[in-house]
Amino acid sequence: MSAASRIYQVAVPTPLYRAFDYLATVSLVPGTRVRVPFGRRELVGVVLGEVAQSELPSGRLKPITQALDASAILPPTILGLLRWAADYYHHPLGEVIHTALPVRLRQGRAPDTAGVKVWMLTPEGRAVDPGALKRAPTQRLVLETLALSAEGVEADQLAQISQRSAAALRALRSKGWVSSYQRDHREETKPASVTGPPLNPGQQSAVSAILAGLKNFYPCLLHGVTGSGKTEVYLSVIEQLLPQGKQSLVLVPEISLTPQLVGRFERRFGLPIAVLHSGLNEQERLSAWVRAVEGKAPIVLGTRSAVFTPLRNPGLIVVDEEHDASYKQQEGFRYSARDVAVMRAAREKIPIILGSATPSLESLKNARQGAYALIELPERTGSAVMPDVRLLDMRRLKPSEGLSMPLREALAERLEKGEQSILFLNRRGFSPVWMCFDCGWVASCKRCDARLTLHQTISPGAKLDAHSAPAGGAPGMARIKKQKLLCHHCGADQQITPRCPTCQGENLHPLGEGTERVEGALQKFFPNARVERIDRDSTARRGALEEILRRVHEGKADILVGTQMLSKGHDFPNVTLVGILNADQGLYGTDFRSGERLFQLIMQVSGRAGRADKQGEVLIQTWHPDHPLFTALQRHDFHGFAEYALNERREAGYPPYSHLALLRAESPAPGAALEFLNAARVLAVRLAPGKDVQTLTPLPAPMERRAGRYRAQMLVQSRQRGPLHDFLGRWVMQLAEAKFAKKTRWSLDVDPLDMH
Ligand code: ADP
Ligand code: ZN
Ligand code: ZN
Repeated sequence: MSAASRIYQVAVPTPLYRAFDYLATVSLVPGTRVRVPFGRRELVGVVLGEVAQSELPSGRLKPITQALDASAILPPTILGLLRWAADYYHHPLGEVIHTALPVRLRQGRAPDTAGVKVWMLTPEGRAVDPGALKRAPTQRLVLETLALSAEGVEADQLAQISQRSAAALRALRSKGWVSSYQRDHREETKPASVTGPPLNPGQQSAVSAILAGLKNFYPCLLHGVTGSGKTEVYLSVIEQLLPQGKQSLVLVPEISLTPQLVGRFERRFGLPIAVLHSGLNEQERLSAWVRAVEGKAPIVLGTRSAVFTPLRNPGLIVVDEEHDASYKQQEGFRYSARDVAVMRAAREKIPIILGSATPSLESLKNARQGAYALIELPERTGSAVMPDVRLLDMRRLKPSEGLSMPLREALAERLEKGEQSILFLNRRGFSPVWMCFDCGWVASCKRCDARLTLHQTISPGAKLDAHSAPAGGAPGMARIKKQKLLCHHCGADQQITPRCPTCQGENLHPLGEGTERVEGALQKFFPNARVERIDRDSTARRGALEEILRRVHEGKADILVGTQMLSKGHDFPNVTLVGILNADQGLYGTDFRSGERLFQLIMQVSGRAGRADKQGEVLIQTWHPDHPLFTALQRHDFHGFAEYALNERREAGYPPYSHLALLRAESPAPGAALEFLNAARVLAVRLAPGKDVQTLTPLPAPMERRAGRYRAQMLVQSRQRGPLHDFLGRWVMQLAEAKFAKKTRWSLDVDPLDMH
């Protein structure tokens, strides 16, 4: 090796907890990508920095194959953030960096602006008479098409006019008649067509507080009910940052569910917004990323992974619906985008707004302790008022197909007035149980410890009678295309058999209601009502959700029944009734956050009612009308609920009063996961975590078997973050090396959100 070689540390996408050293004769900037040999493969890694010495003798160091970038694609701030995240979540840095990059960059492609290719006529081409091209009809067609447009035509559009247009373009170019250039995506700016309303005093003080903190880390929890004007606060702060050339990063839970939000931003500013979400193809994603990095996109709007998008001139971060569980990645690198966003704002010294109608108890506690500013928007804007909340005591009311009499009456009243209603039910499918009423047999999944859900697909337009026999009933009755049993945990499906596999009886029936069954019942009770269903099944097809939402907005739907997809961000001004069907489901869940989730969900769904000038009403069907959670809901008393829930957490020693990490393991062999965890615990005890850190007994997961794998978990708990992370770091290093750990799939989840 030449003495002029330098040694660089490179993060490589492998599950190994270390960086690797390579040699280079050229000087490499941290944050640039390189191709390096790795085992028998070649990988794309990111340069972390130069080191004076390697632990390996220099004879064993390999040279990098190729440097891919002239300047850093990950600036020092983001590289630093990623290092912090790898440390905090105890996840290999190479994989963390990999997660943060758009797929095309991971593959080693150039981060070009990736604009669209546009073809236009050259002056020579303009002089040509297309009619002369009789023998080349495609060339003629292309020429005629281009002649119509002075700015040129996108290659994609030309490809659509003929399969042979690419060959025709080549021929025309060789004659010198056409040329192409790259035009940036959506660079054209439209004039802003709307201005914001004058802010009310609450919004005003929120905006001034945030603007006053502009040059500093200023974390602020913006708590305001749905419709209180939180989005207006974001827009107003962003507006003031634009003339300074500062960029804003806005994180939202799921963009596909909130297309209205993107439109609202675009209309307000007349600017192209870089949108980053999983619905994009890789080229679009890269293009949006590059516009953010180059500072060309003043506003970057994205879901979870957008938190790592580098910004040339960052000015503000917004985390909308900060309590939303989708900010937490549930596999691989299990980070919380909200928490990473707060850390990012701290490192970049900029303000961050965490907005929610129902803040997480973690954020609320931070705000109460003064770590975050707390800004309240207690009222809805304009004339809109909070909906009336009524609890329907199901101990006295006999529901029919899940719908109690008062709820049916309330629906009938809305239909008469031409107003819309929403029914919320957190369970898709027709019925959660398929049971033999002779012997009690229940259909269950062969690969999971779970029951199967009955699903029916109704042919469009057919009227369903929920009591009717599955197939071929009388005319006008249900025509059911498919009926099957589906596992919601592993996706396995089974056909329905006419006889019980245990007693051979034929007395098999669905038990309980899912959205499909309620949809059918509504059609039976209200034959003239136009019912729409919104759940994962009804919106599986691309564009289906948008179509349903459009019908609702155009007033072509009377009743919407759906799962939590309904709760997110939609603004339905004509909805005046919200019914919550199985509210009790989350009340006594196995997870200590069940209650918090239920409260958030109902509050969010309720927020859909009466947003314009019409009074809304929320009806909650419950068997526990005296539960403090419901009485707080009835009073719209978030703080009352939070008080109750925080006390419960304090007594039980759960977050936010302690910090958790969950070590999970799974194996197709029964017992193997528990065995691994028991060995891991022995290691843990030997590491002497100290009395601050408790390692709890390993237990089977609440649903032990899923998709044929047996799962177990072990909780580690501490009142203080420092000792916990110190212990976790040492423990994970030992687990990564341990022989017994090689056979079992395991992962560590820091700040787990889902305890299953
Ligand atoms: P949130 O984000 O809290 O749900 P929005 O910002 O979307 O609330 O505001 C709800 C509605 O009220 C929107 O239609 C918005 O344009 C309007 N609005 C917000 N602030 C004001 C205000 N100060 N004056 C009048 N209308 C407002
Ligand atoms: Zn039976
Ligand atoms: Zn299953």
